[in-house]
Amino acid sequence: MRTLIKNGTVVTATDQYQGDVLIEGEKITVIGTALDMAADTVIDATAKYVLPGGIDVHTHMDMPFGGTTSADDFETGTVAAAFGGTTSIVDFAIQYRGQTLHHAMETWAKKAEGRAVIDYGFHMIITELNDQVEGEMDALVRQGITSFKLFMAYPGVFMLDDASIFKALLRTGKNGGSICMHAENGGVIDVLVQRALAEGKTAPKYHALTRPARAEAEATHRAIALAEIADVPIYIVHLSSAEALAMVTEARDRGLPAFAETCPQYLFLSYENYEEPGFEGAKYVMSPPLRERAKQDSLWRGLAFNDLQCISTDHCPFCMKEQKELGTNDFSKIPNGAPGVETRMSLVYDGGVRPGRITLNRFVELTSTSPAKIFGLFPRKGTIAPGSDADIVVFDPNRTMTLSAKTLHMNVDYNPYEGRQVTGATDTVISRGNLVIENGTFVGRKGGGSFLKRGTRT
Ligand SMILES: [Zn+2]
Repeated sequence: MRTLIKNGTVVTATDQYQGDVLIEGEKITVIGTALDMAADTVIDATAKYVLPGGIDVHTHMDMPFGGTTSADDFETGTVAAAFGGTTSIVDFAIQYRGQTLHHAMETWAKKAEGRAVIDYGFHMIITELNDQVEGEMDALVRQGITSFKLFMAYPGVFMLDDASIFKALLRTGKNGGSICMHAENGGVIDVLVQRALAEGKTAPKYHALTRPARAEAEATHRAIALAEIADVPIYIVHLSSAEALAMVTEARDRGLPAFAETCPQYLFLSYENYEEPGFEGAKYVMSPPLRERAKQDSLWRGLAFNDLQCISTDHCPFCMKEQKELGTNDFSKIPNGAPGVETRMSLVYDGGVRPGRITLNRFVELTSTSPAKIFGLFPRKGTIAPGSDADIVVFDPNRTMTLSAKTLHMNVDYNPYEGRQVTGATDTVISRGNLVIENGTFVGRKGGGSFLKRGTRT
């Protein structure tokens, strides 16, 4: 099976040139000009960009949370991802207290196998650490689950104490894995939440008002300090605030291997969304919450100057009907999360590259190359090169579309960007040599995605 992509502009994290790309089987085999090999499929990419497929290293498909389950499963969620130009996700398996990591891995493997239409890997969420679990961490690293997510928030559910966090960090120093941190001070936030509820403050906006940016900055600082003492790298997930970014920047300026991602919602939405009428603010209830619009420029600066290395989505959709509604009378019962896996590439291209906040190369780096490098997928994924997987997006930089829950493919009854116009859209998507999106139609196969056995950090 051969596919030839002709006449496009190939863009990677470092290059941009007119070129043709030949795919044989699952791999890119030849890149050149005026290639004329026979092919089963020829794609004309004139006036389009030919990009490495997007890699979203933060999704939650089919995830139980707050008495309900995120609305996309591994089929609907990966179809939506593909429509948006993403060809790999790294989702989160959860070890619940009293369970082994192995059990969690099997549970999540079953959720994804036979359903995902693009490739998928897992991070492992550890909610209880003991000697046996530490041993399992080593085993998981060998099996290609090479990153572990820990929580400094959600006491009693996900939160780990500092000693456990420190032990897990030390363990990754030996086994080559890495730690991803949800950095918010959960103890302080819980007190603020209880105080707000006692004062009768139940509306969605109090979700944001009880999770101050300083609580994120404090935890970010503490996470980095613990990693520094353990002498290992650390990756902060869904960094939302200028205050937390300052902690990462300070550490990086000292030469520490501190890394962080942000998400489109922190770049394009803001606290004002919580003040939309009625219960509408619930659409944006996620943790960390949306922040002040005035401080978003700091995040863009962080992206441009590499204090932030990745843009992921934290895709975790809950419908307004019957799911977000669980918190009608109590913001603390609104399931945390919002849809985003499908809109990431277009939003960041439209709002980042077009206004000149980041370059086209940096766009590719933030959405594909850098996540691949940090999470052990490079150079198999994250670039366009001979020998790399043929995960390719033909992207039209001039096509304008209107984002709407009616036309997007995520399995959720609203969209946080409803009505927003974006220029820059995915036309054709190839996953390991197979067409999955062709001219706006899904042509992939349920179960076509494979588990990604990831490498250790290099
Ligand atoms: Zn998350």
